[in-house]
Amino acid sequence: MKENMCQAPYAKLAASHEKLARGQVWCRKCGRMRRVDAARCLAKGWPKCCGATMTVDAPEERGSDHE
Ligand SMILES: [Zn+2]
Repeated sequence: MKENMCQAPYAKLAASHEKLARGQVWCRKCGRMRRVDAARCLAKGWPKCCGATMTVDAPEERGSDHE
């Protein structure tokens, strides 16, 4: 069995997205910010808060068009 293949595709994906690479997610409901390892979250499951999946979009980036 070869184990020297490559890194998990998640690491590449996480690094290729600016918002994932910064390693921060926010709750849309309560506004809480959490630091995360995006690659790990993609592999293991995305963090949740207030019963909903957290977003990589910062509150100031979302604007107020979605209230
Ligand atoms: Zn919350």
